[in-house]
Formats: sequence, C-alpha cells, structure tokens
Amino acid sequence: MTPLEIEIVSEIKANGPIGVDRFMALALGHPRHGYYMTRDPFGMGGDFITAPEISQIFGELLGLVAAMTWQALGEPSAVCLVELGPGRGTLMADALRAAKALPGFTSCLEVHFVEMSPVLQRAQADALKDSGRHPIWHASIDTLPTDRPLIILANEFFDAIPIRQFQKHKGDWRERLVGIGADGTLALGLDPQIAESLTFEAPDDSVFEMSPISLDIMRRLAERLVAQRGMVLAIDYGYAKFAYGDSLQAVRRHKFTPVLDNPGEADITAHVDFSSLGIAAKRGGAAVHPLLTQATLLERLGIRHRAEILKKKADDPASLDAAVERLAGTGSQSMGLLFKALAVTSPDLGPPAGFDQTDPLLAP
Ligand code: SAH
Repeated sequence: MTPLEIEIVSEIKANGPIGVDRFMALALGHPRHGYYMTRDPFGMGGDFITAPEISQIFGELLGLVAAMTWQALGEPSAVCLVELGPGRGTLMADALRAAKALPGFTSCLEVHFVEMSPVLQRAQADALKDSGRHPIWHASIDTLPTDRPLIILANEFFDAIPIRQFQKHKGDWRERLVGIGADGTLALGLDPQIAESLTFEAPDDSVFEMSPISLDIMRRLAERLVAQRGMVLAIDYGYAKFAYGDSLQAVRRHKFTPVLDNPGEADITAHVDFSSLGIAAKRGGAAVHPLLTQATLLERLGIRHRAEILKKKADDPASLDAAVERLAGTGSQSMGLLFKALAVTSPDLGPPAGFDQTDPLLAP
C-alpha cells in the first residue's frame, strides 16, 4: 500500500466510505502524498505529456489569442494574464514570448498562476526566468485581483478537478463510494442510500458523472468576467455533449492503471463535460462561444504556417510535422478531436480569435 492508501483506509475505517470526489482530491492534492504535490509528472520521462510539452507552437498560439483579446478589450492599461494549473509553466513561457508581437500588451500585463503544488510552483518560476516575469501564485481563483480584466488560460486543468459518480442500480441512482474490500484494500461500492435528487431515466448500470467543483469554478469565473471583463479559454479532453459513462482514469508512466491502485502515484483525471461547463458560465452571466475541437482551433490560428517557419531553422523538421499531427490531427492517435476548446467572455466581447464560426468537426 502507498502511504496515502494507508491514510485513506484509516479515514474510511473511522468515518465510512468516501465519495469518488474525495478520493480524487486526496490522490491528487493531499498535502504530503498527493500526486501533484510531490512531483513533476510531465514529459517523456514522467507519467504523461500535455500539449504545451509537445510543441512550443501550442503556447505561442494561445499567447496570440490572449494578446488579441487584450486588443478587443480596448487595450486596458492593466490586465491579468492568468493560467489555471500551469504544470511546468511551459505554456505561459511560450505565450509570453509570442505575445511580444504586441508590446503594448506585454507591458500592461501581470502573470497570475492558480496552482496548488509547491513542486510545480518552483518549476513554473524556473520556466519564466528568461521572461523576467515574477508570477503571483494563488491557491484558488478566489484571490485573483478584482480590479482589472482577466485573460484566463486553462489547459488540462478541469480534467483534474474532482468528480462524483452515480450508478443506476435496479432502477435507482446511487452514488459510487470508495470503501474497503474483503482483502483490506480500497474497493468501489454503492451508497446504500438512494440519490433521491437524481430522477432521470437511464438503463441499469449507467454511470452518471458530475463535477460540482468545476461548475462552481466556471460560474464564479464567469461572474468575474461580467464584473471585470475578459476571457476564459479552457482546453481539455472531454465530451462536447453530455454522455453517460465511467470516464475516470489513472495513468502512470504513460500507461493506464486501475484507478484505486497506488493512490498518490498515478495521475487521475476524468472527461470534462463541456456542455455543463458552458451552462455554468451562462449562469454566471458570461457569453459562451461555440465549442471547437482542438484541431479546428489550432488550424484556424495557423499551426501549420507557424510550423513551416520553425521548420526552416529546425535541426529535425520531421519532428515538427509529428508534433502538428499529434496536436491538430484528427486520427485516433492525435489529440485534435478528443480535446475541445471552450471560450467564455464578458458579454461585451465578441468571439475570441478562432471562435467566430462553429466547428464542422462537431456534429450540431
Ligand atoms: N496545464 C499544464 C498542466 C496540466 S496538469 C499542462 O498542460 O501541461 C494539471 C495542473 O493543474 C497541475 O499544474 C496541477 O498541479 C494543477 N491543479 C490540479 N488541481 C488543482 C487545484 N484544485 N487547484 C490548483 N491547481 C490544481
């Protein structure tokens, strides 16, 4: 058993089974043993690789969207460029470099990071060394400044926010709980109580997921945008339309592992439900723009053009083609279709760059 599993087992022995949300929050964020709190998991040598780590182009293109959003805001003299869950800080470093194309923007902005992991905060400080920027860290969105527009980027942040799971069982919904199995290790079971508030029909054994924390974060960010103006651009893997299914997954050293095994030593994520996130943003009063696949967004922002420029100076031009294919390709080995981009703005702003038309790759 991992040290965290020992702690979780004793918590369950003392207080009874815990929700999947509590399990996920502990596995990722336990102050001493949480997965993100103890390591830098990114890259080929780590457990998984994310878009900004695949190519600098990803962060550069998002930096340009941020700069154009600042222009659309009327070039305010003070603005926060915020990133939620910045990982190694690579996206922000690339975005800041690209944003120099609009020097007015870079001289007005302050970098704010929402990051719970001390290990990753150090990596983020390192990543920004060359930019000369001193980011300001926040443990949650609550402490972000309230007096300026916010331009907020979030890549693979919402997939790490805890979810609850419910299962249809003999006609009723019951919450899935993590308890202790016959062998003394963690095991999934169902709450003996019926989840009375869930009344919709579905075939037996259907799994319904929701992330109340994600919805709350998105609604509160939307309220901030209404009050302060700005944009949230959230990119993640997930569903364009709500779907039933168990999407919880654990990844360790680039391979899937059982979710309850080795808590604290594997990354645990779930599909993001973009339709619910969009509804949460609307409830907060913000404008929600048509959802795009990552493929369509990156193509519209000119990923191929940027790759051609970089290829001229590259030692290994073929690796750039491979990176473009991985980020924007639509095959099953690529991220282009699975990953989606949600843009939310203050109601006074039009669609951000790339979001002016619906996505033909997403069925209406
Ligand atoms: N955006 C980065 C990292 C994605 S991994 C990339 O694309 O490479 C998820 C990131 O979110 C990590 O930095 C993790 O520490 C952070 N994170 C996860 N849950 C969080 C929470 N509840 N509050 C703050 N940061 C969180």
